[in-house]
Amino acid sequence: MYKYAVSAVIVTSIMVHCGNVTKADSGSPEMADKVLVLADSVFDEHVKALKARVPDDFTIFVQRPFVVIGNEEPDKVRHRSTRTVKWAIDLLKKDFFTNDPAYIIDIWLFRDKTSYEKYAWELFNDKPETPFGYYLEEEKALLMNISTGGGTLVHEMVHPFMRANFPGCPPWFDEGMASLYEQCGEKGGHIYGYTNWRLEGLQEAAESGRVPSFKTLTAMRATKFYLQDKGTNYAQARYLCYYLQEQGLLVKYYHEFHENVDDDPTGYITLQKVLGVEDMKAFKKKWETFVMKLSFP
Ligand SMILES: [Zn+2]
Repeated sequence: MYKYAVSAVIVTSIMVHCGNVTKADSGSPEMADKVLVLADSVFDEHVKALKARVPDDFTIFVQRPFVVIGNEEPDKVRHRSTRTVKWAIDLLKKDFFTNDPAYIIDIWLFRDKTSYEKYAWELFNDKPETPFGYYLEEEKALLMNISTGGGTLVHEMVHPFMRANFPGCPPWFDEGMASLYEQCGEKGGHIYGYTNWRLEGLQEAAESGRVPSFKTLTAMRATKFYLQDKGTNYAQARYLCYYLQEQGLLVKYYHEFHENVDDDPTGYITLQKVLGVEDMKAFKKKWETFVMKLSFP
């Protein structure tokens, strides 16, 4: 349900909140850009407006750069706000992201299917097309049926960070990273993606020779990535990221791709470089063998 990054939204948002945005030094001499941090007053105003709008049984927690709003028991909402949302923010920032999104994103955690559908309609005039959750770009809101688990939540949290830090990121890497962490935990103090439900479809596609070359995948524009055999595209991108993770190369790849995106907008050349591979056909065979040996659960 994610609609592809619109970097203009970020720019507009910075301008709107101009008087309330503080610039802080990133502490990194290599960073030419300044890190933008929204002032407390922006969050205070936002929460005030939310309180006037949300039904009584919702609790609100500020978890920068997000605001978490939920209608489970208040302790449960607090627990999700710290143990899922803050946990993921901290670990994603540790390895990948420097900037917060330049605007507040609301994370709505609805306790079950009934309230998810009811409030999507009553508060946002929208009908969910997925049972798990999705991002409403125009409302800057993540709507989650949290009874289905936190996986989609972490997936959708990756996108605003990617937009804020890597606006030129192509769809395959944006969705590959987001999908990697939809089944995640912690390993050695770092965020770690596990195998998940996307594996089975990928193995079937690999067996029937339907998985495109990495050159094709990485060159896909949003229309092709999201509309043509979307399931295989997501899964291929995810398990390429998973492979890089397993080789200890994912963090390196992210940063090298980010640094070289002007010269290598698809990330393909950087992929070859980081993998140390020239023959990508042979690599694809090796990767498919690796994928066929994986299992879930
Ligand atoms: Zn996504």
